[in-house]
Amino acid sequence: MTDLLVIGGGLAGSEAAYQAAQRGLKVRLSEMRPSVQTGAHQTHDLAELVCSNSLGSNLPDRASGLLKNETRMLGSMLVECAEAAALPAGGALAVDRELFARLVTERIENHPNIEILREEVKEIPDSLSIVTSGPLTSPALSQSIAALSGEEHLFFFDAIAPVIHADSINMNIAFRASRYGTGEEDAGDYINCPFTKEEYYLFVEALLKAERIELRSFEETIKSGVKAGHFFEGCLPVEIIAERGIDSLAFGPMRPVGLKDPRTGKRPYAVVQLRQDNLAGSLYNLVGFQTNLKYPEQKRVLRLIPGLENAEFMRYGQMHRNTFIASPKLLRPTLQHIERDDLFFAGQITGVEGYMGNIATGLLAGINAARFYHHEEPITLPQTTMLGALCHYVTHADLKDFQPMKANFGIFPPLESTSKIGKRERGKAYAERAL
Ligand SMILES: Cc1cc2nc3c(=O)[nH]c(=O)nc-3n(C[C@H](O)[C@H](O)[C@H](O)COP(=O)(O)OP(=O)(O)OC[C@H]3O[C@@H](n4cnc5c(N)ncnc54)[C@H](O)[C@@H]3O)c2cc1C
Repeated sequence: MTDLLVIGGGLAGSEAAYQAAQRGLKVRLSEMRPSVQTGAHQTHDLAELVCSNSLGSNLPDRASGLLKNETRMLGSMLVECAEAAALPAGGALAVDRELFARLVTERIENHPNIEILREEVKEIPDSLSIVTSGPLTSPALSQSIAALSGEEHLFFFDAIAPVIHADSINMNIAFRASRYGTGEEDAGDYINCPFTKEEYYLFVEALLKAERIELRSFEETIKSGVKAGHFFEGCLPVEIIAERGIDSLAFGPMRPVGLKDPRTGKRPYAVVQLRQDNLAGSLYNLVGFQTNLKYPEQKRVLRLIPGLENAEFMRYGQMHRNTFIASPKLLRPTLQHIERDDLFFAGQITGVEGYMGNIATGLLAGINAARFYHHEEPITLPQTTMLGALCHYVTHADLKDFQPMKANFGIFPPLESTSKIGKRERGKAYAERAL
């Protein structure tokens, strides 16, 4: 006997299944990998991180740090696993992605109330369910969701950053440091590739001229009337940022603030930061360097980065689909469907963006599905909590301009005190109020 079906064993689905199982429900978690692939995941594991290995800030007065503290208080299993797989990353919670996914998979596999089925779900079930099929929801299930939700099924593109082998980085040029010296390791948590002004302009010129992968595979979907064409603003491909102006990268992902090149003693004109990607420290990702260049072009252009002239690529950057529903029209802040009390959505598919938001909404959907099952009122979290504010935002935003939203203080109701306080103090006050 199954009490609850969870569709998709990613971040949200794993957390949701666990929370409901902990509350006594018999849960069936359906995950389509490995028989059906998403195009971005590379393993069979549950909770695979598809791009960056960072779950964002761990500082208590930052929005993402607050969301972590809230989910910790609510007993998040995934945050526990992330802490067990943590790597040095300044004030952020970065993880060894393989270890993290393995720990989550083991916790789910060993739970007496959870059964994992490796199958693609093609239709929204009629019984108590949580849909956590993510931004790369399979086409068949997407159609079923579109049928349930009418015209308001949105669709757009996103891009992922390349990963390189650490021993191919030229450390005579690149140097270790964290911005403003805030890292955990004495030498600094990041590897930084410094540019002079001339090197930077040559690089941007090459980037702009490089060949990109055509978006053919998406065209049919676009023709069939699905909205497309805009990028995930927080995850723009570097070549698209570069198109906005010659110095946009130097003010964006390549900003050099808080860094000094030990060879010159000065701040470089621009910097590419590399972040450790696995526990062994043998792989590094290019922070903020999502791209859609053709693979040979990535190799050619990214090797123009000082220190990466001999870079060996473990994974190239790529573009992919990103699917999310029109939550302002379809969902309640409890994450229940507007017309079906027994149907929940969580994770990226709701328009809550980012690993931590996906975990947190999975957690709330798991708790609320269990409450529904036990004939208890599902919880609507106060808007003064980060998770409550996110759920409120995606269910109340103006549908016309609806875009995925990650944890940030801008969606909070203002503080009661009207006295002027600095940004950090404000963050602290928001966090205190929330907790
Ligand atoms: C390529 C890419 C890069 C991203 N990079 C970042 C990043 O760097 N940082 C960040 O914070 N966020 C990033 N995101 C956004 C988002 O946080 C992640 O995608 C996150 O993994 C989403 O969590 P989720 O649980 O909603 O979905 P997922 O983790 O994708 O899990 C969904 C699961 O459902 C399965 N599934 C899909 N359809 C079906 C079906 N019909 N039946 C059964 N199973 C199904 C999938 O195989 C998958 O395992 C990225 C998204 C993408 C697509």
